[in-house]
Amino acid sequence: MQARRMVGALFLVALAAAGPAVGEPRHADLLIVNGHLVTMDGEFRVIEDGTVAVEGSRIVGVGGPELAGLFAAEETIDAGGDLVMPGMVNTHTHASMTIFRGLGDDVPDRLRRFIFPLEAAVVDADHVFKGALLGAVEMVLGGATTFVDMYYFEDAVARAARAVGVRAVLGETIIGFPAPDAEIPYGGLDYARRFIAEFAGDELVTPALAPHAPYTMDREHLELVAAAARELDVPVLVHLAETRAEIEQIEREHGLSPVEYLDAVGLLSDRLVAAHCIFVDAADIELLRERGVGVSHNIVSNVKAGKGVAPVLAMRAAGLDVGLGTDGPMSGNTLDMMGLLGYTAKLHKLAQLDRSVMPARDVVEMATIGGARAIDMEDRIGSLEVGKLADLLIVDVDSVHMIPMYDVYSALVYAAGAQDVRTVIVHGRQVVRDRELLTVDVERLKADVRELTDEIARQAARL
Ligand SMILES: [Zn+2]
Repeated sequence: MQARRMVGALFLVALAAAGPAVGEPRHADLLIVNGHLVTMDGEFRVIEDGTVAVEGSRIVGVGGPELAGLFAAEETIDAGGDLVMPGMVNTHTHASMTIFRGLGDDVPDRLRRFIFPLEAAVVDADHVFKGALLGAVEMVLGGATTFVDMYYFEDAVARAARAVGVRAVLGETIIGFPAPDAEIPYGGLDYARRFIAEFAGDELVTPALAPHAPYTMDREHLELVAAAARELDVPVLVHLAETRAEIEQIEREHGLSPVEYLDAVGLLSDRLVAAHCIFVDAADIELLRERGVGVSHNIVSNVKAGKGVAPVLAMRAAGLDVGLGTDGPMSGNTLDMMGLLGYTAKLHKLAQLDRSVMPARDVVEMATIGGARAIDMEDRIGSLEVGKLADLLIVDVDSVHMIPMYDVYSALVYAAGAQDVRTVIVHGRQVVRDRELLTVDVERLKADVRELTDEIARQAARL
């Protein structure tokens, strides 16, 4: 109660500063009342019977029931006791690869023997767009309001993200051989420059550079990407320290760990989001922390590939920013962030033979504000706080598997599923209302993707 009163008082001060006289209701586009707020703010405040006010793209009020009377709202959603939480951040995926979901699942050395040749044979801008639409729809229905993507034709992914109405950090892939959108090795860098210019300043899309990995590029081009990132002031996304083969190759060729090697080429900085980081030692972790690198932890994909368990407990203890990622739908098969929560908690307990490690609140933190920190957007997203962008979820707590609810974090991590996400708001706009997507015709999209599958299956059978 004390905390609630304090929020109310702070809010009145904010109101007075904002203009309208105290006592005069302030305009809001949307008011969510009767919510059980899981704010993920600096104090991890949980507010029962809470209110969230949204004006335009921003959150303008977070507090108790008394807050509702301070606003005159265009629309009011009665959350009926459901959880209201920040939208989740999927810190690593390849959304367009939904079109390949379920292909080559148990093939060894799959990346080189299967995925790269398959992509060379079939991927074009239309595939990327439709695959990204399907991926973005799956993600937003499951409560991800931001996704971080690495692929080809990222401008097509950007158009898909806009169509669905979801926030995205999109990295155009740069790799040392011809790619579906580049006839020459490293052609992705020129493609990226055009893409970044086209989407600079977009309200939902943050364009980025995505050097594929330290082992698929030469040193000169890693350095060129680092310089381009500084020049263009964009995020950089990379796969890092993902396999033993990568560790051995970089050690053999450069006498360094992959983390040290990326530092030597100038890529380690706060603009870098490194996916996986499974094979990192204490010195690597310290270097990543010093440089302000964000890490994406992709446990479902890593376990399915038999790669290993990233030392996330040590990373968090060292103060590294770690978010959660599904990886692409060929690796993790679904883009289900809710499912990832329980998996993350349980796998680390198993790895440590200790049920006390990776508690539920830490997992929710990584999925929300932790992910926002990993991608350097914590000033804008990741928590329910006044001034932040209105990216938030209403999670149904009325399903039988959610009853009773003694602890909100336990309920979210160990009981909730993607199907419990009821309503999703991104940038102040309702994208999902009562489990119905409002932006894209899902039935038509399903038919469009199914139309692609015969040809993809024919090509895959040749590999
Ligand atoms: Zn990946």
